[in-house]
Amino acid sequence: MNAVDETGQMPGWREAKGTRVRVALWLATEVGEGGTFKKQQLRDAMPGVEQIDRRMRDLRPAGWKISTYRDRAALGADELMLEKIGLPVWEKEHRAAGLRAISARTRQEVMNRDFHRCVRCGILAGEAYPDDPSSTARLTLGHVHPHKHGSGSTPSDLVTECARCNESVQHFTESRLSFEQVWDRVQALTGRDKNLVLRWIVKGHRDASPAERAVGLINQLSAVDRDAVKARLVDFVGGPVDGAHVELPEDGIADGGSGEELPGGAS
Ligand SMILES: [Zn+2]
Repeated sequence: MNAVDETGQMPGWREAKGTRVRVALWLATEVGEGGTFKKQQLRDAMPGVEQIDRRMRDLRPAGWKISTYRDRAALGADELMLEKIGLPVWEKEHRAAGLRAISARTRQEVMNRDFHRCVRCGILAGEAYPDDPSSTARLTLGHVHPHKHGSGSTPSDLVTECARCNESVQHFTESRLSFEQVWDRVQALTGRDKNLVLRWIVKGHRDASPAERAVGLINQLSAVDRDAVKARLVDFVGGPVDGAHVELPEDGIADGGSGEELPGGAS
């Protein structure tokens, strides 16, 4: 009936890793070629998974054909039909099928433009998440408008995101805080920081402070070059160095750059 039966080793969609793979497995096993479904059924199957529509569309370049009422008059407005199961993206060699449209050069350009930090949450590559110090950020590229049909892959369509912001919030559920816990922390901020937070969430991303931009750029240098930058900075700042520890002067370099910059301007 379909290509799936021949592989014999299809993982379960509930256990599989990666939203695109899970969506593919769900379609192959729960819908099947020629079957119809509604987006809501897919969303219900994977509650909390973000950008699920986009992951489904991402299957098209891997040879999957999913029709809507625009392609088939018989379908209802909210109905979709799985016409053809494409490449088995759950298999290692096909995992990236159709996803390599972004060139290495574009990737580098976008990362440099965004100063090697997640535009959604502001985290730098390799930095630990404040609410989950055991996991560190890995940067990837996402679309500026993730829900827009046919987003391109030029630098202006793309932004740097950490894998956590990009993928799903699904498996961080346990470590997530309640509304009250979060609001307590927001309320404790200074007026200036509240203002900054508001601008940030309205805009959907935060523009980096000059200090954060510099750190992002320094982080992509080699270890040797990073040490050289550090040594020069120590000369500028004038603090004594004790192993990895640098004594910083009192007046608040440690305040991490939420200081004078206000979002606006760049990109
Ligand atoms: Zn992020």
